Amino acid sequence: MITRSPANVQIARDLASSPGPSSASPPAWQRQLADVVRDPAELCRRLGLGDEALPGAQDGHALFEVRVPEAYLSRIRPGDPDDPLLRQVLPLVAETDAIDGFVADPLEEADHTPRRGLIHKYAGRVLLIASPACAINCRYCFRRHFPYQENSPSRAQWQATLDYLREDTSIHEVILSGGDPLAASDRQLAWLVARLEEIPHLTRLRIHTRLPVVIPARIDEALLEWLGSTRLQKVVVLHANHAHEIDEHVAAACSRLKAAGVTLLNQSVLLRGVNDSVAALAALSERLFEASVLPYYLHVLDPVSGAAHFDVPDEEARVLVEALRDHLPGFLMPRLVREVPGAASKTPL
Ligand code: SF4
Repeated sequence: MITRSPANVQIARDLASSPGPSSASPPAWQRQLADVVRDPAELCRRLGLGDEALPGAQDGHALFEVRVPEAYLSRIRPGDPDDPLLRQVLPLVAETDAIDGFVADPLEEADHTPRRGLIHKYAGRVLLIASPACAINCRYCFRRHFPYQENSPSRAQWQATLDYLREDTSIHEVILSGGDPLAASDRQLAWLVARLEEIPHLTRLRIHTRLPVVIPARIDEALLEWLGSTRLQKVVVLHANHAHEIDEHVAAACSRLKAAGVTLLNQSVLLRGVNDSVAALAALSERLFEASVLPYYLHVLDPVSGAAHFDVPDEEARVLVEALRDHLPGFLMPRLVREVPGAASKTPL
């Protein structure tokens, strides 16, 4: 059983500790983060969907709670149970099915955590769980069962992680992940990035985040201040799966990041019922580029329990991507990959 209560605790902690414009007035993004839709019935009611959309939703919600920010909700087509954005956030009864091969930790990350909150799988780079919280709970998430509580370091435990980075001079890149790393407060992130900057062999900071897509107000002045001023090269890898996710507010957030010297990439997941067509994938790449973002990876689904209904078989994925080549210039083609536990990098399909 997974709940995101640790995440909510973390958000509450951030709300309490972040300086913001004043202690009585947290930044707009934190208010939006706290004020998300957390109930499938409420989600359906807001979208004008009847009870027929609800069977199984409460069971799925009990396994992995619903969490949808208002900014994302506003982009879902009312009255359409098959809307590709809704499919990503509304639980289906299929989530409770036990399917062979779909497991709690599909990437076997528990075997690669030498320090609390640190995952070291690939040469030259490490991944830090900078925040256990997410703004949105994506039903297909491969970390939906991740033991965030065991991997949420305190300030003192961060020191052990920083020692690890200092001692291993082969590490050049730090990837902030989560949860969503940008769910942490700017004060926490600025502190962490300042410590990373002090390690001479670190040259690159990569941030894997869905927050600019689901709450674009996250890209505010306070964030741009610490991100724009670091000596580290900056890469933000967004996570968008459908062109409808990128509205004018998301595009404006991307422009702000680009102006701060950030290289913008996107990774998406190939999802049945969301983007499993040439038209949907081509529109996503085109829309990303309009927003100054280059498509990077198209992941096949990681076989996490509760998400089997999103799976697109490998052969179908290959055919789809081949057909996509007829519609896009090469620089807008995402690389079709799978993450294989123990492999030295993503595995092309
Ligand atoms: S934002 Fe990322 S980590 Fe969070 S639930 Fe969605 S896919 Fe998972």
